[in-house]
Amino acid sequence: MKRLEYIWLDGNETPKLRSKTRFATSIEQWNFDGGSTLQGDLKDSDRMLNPVQSYKDPFVEGGYLVLCEVCYHDGTPHETNFRSKLLTEYAASRNLDAWFGLEQEFTLLHPVTKLPLGLLLQPKEQGQYYCGAGRDSIVGRDVILEFEKRCAVAGIKLAGINAEVMPGQWEWQTPPQDALAVCDSLWVARYILARISEDMGVEISYDPKPHPDFNGAGCHTNFSTKEMRHKLSDELLEDLMTVLEEDHVDYLASCGEGYAERMSGECETSDWKTFTWGVGDRGASVRIPQKVKEDGAGYIEDRRPCANIDPYKLIFSLLQTTKKSKLL
Ligand code: ADP
Ligand code: MN
Ligand code: MN
Ligand code: MN
Repeated sequence: MKRLEYIWLDGNETPKLRSKTRFATSIEQWNFDGGSTLQGDLKDSDRMLNPVQSYKDPFVEGGYLVLCEVCYHDGTPHETNFRSKLLTEYAASRNLDAWFGLEQEFTLLHPVTKLPLGLLLQPKEQGQYYCGAGRDSIVGRDVILEFEKRCAVAGIKLAGINAEVMPGQWEWQTPPQDALAVCDSLWVARYILARISEDMGVEISYDPKPHPDFNGAGCHTNFSTKEMRHKLSDELLEDLMTVLEEDHVDYLASCGEGYAERMSGECETSDWKTFTWGVGDRGASVRIPQKVKEDGAGYIEDRRPCANIDPYKLIFSLLQTTKKSKLL
């Protein structure tokens, strides 16, 4: 018998993670009560968990985390199943060989006051917390180290971790991966962090603007295609920026609930109302890293997505837009 922790996304507008444990000899489809997760109702509650990926369970020796998509009983994907929508788009755009690297920011909250943990520190200029060291600047490093260890056990690779600009706020970066792999592993990493938070007595918040006085929390989405990695000409870049600008308003719907509060045009964000881009510009919707401009090859950084995005939904939109670019 194996211990299998089935994980799925519920039906909230900003999806929450759910999981339940199954003891079985093999990984198979399983049912659940959709009426309790906003994916069904009392009279029509049976929904199906369709396993799509499995990882070593970093909390239980010999167990597995089984990431699932939600379907109806006849196998039709549920409306909340953005993974299956992405899968179609992903298959249609395989020739792009697109890579995505996500910078997942989050904030540690006190479980009772719901205030960012770092607010208990002496108030200082926000610039002093970023990548800081010492008890006057940093809270929660033990949570981060635990996260790092558990991700390694599960086989989830991280590209980096840093303390952020707001006290009590952190970020991990994923390595560049294809659309499905980056989204699946981001959700499982979020699950691992959620489980750690249960034991360590902190709450993890992906709220795009947890405190009005400080930087919000984003999920910058770095993006490249094979062609861009080989050569990113000015012509290609400008064409890509044109299509991104055209789709800007629609795209915001995938950027996470509460994007307007975060994208105020202050605190290293662009104003959500206008699309802008620039080389080395952290106040733009899209930043072209300085080195990428110099090399004439590489990736772009979309700074609009908020920390609470559903990456399946976001990357689906980004791929759809990218396809409109003539040069790709
Ligand atoms: P910054 O904080 O300066 O914006 P980070 O170092 O936090 O940058 O994050 C950079 C992100 O870009 C990482 O997630 C990394 O994996 C990703 N990345 C690097 N190269 C590529 C690429 N060619 N395509 C897509 N993403 C990339
Ligand atoms: Mn970063
Ligand atoms: Mn950051
Ligand atoms: Mn960034």
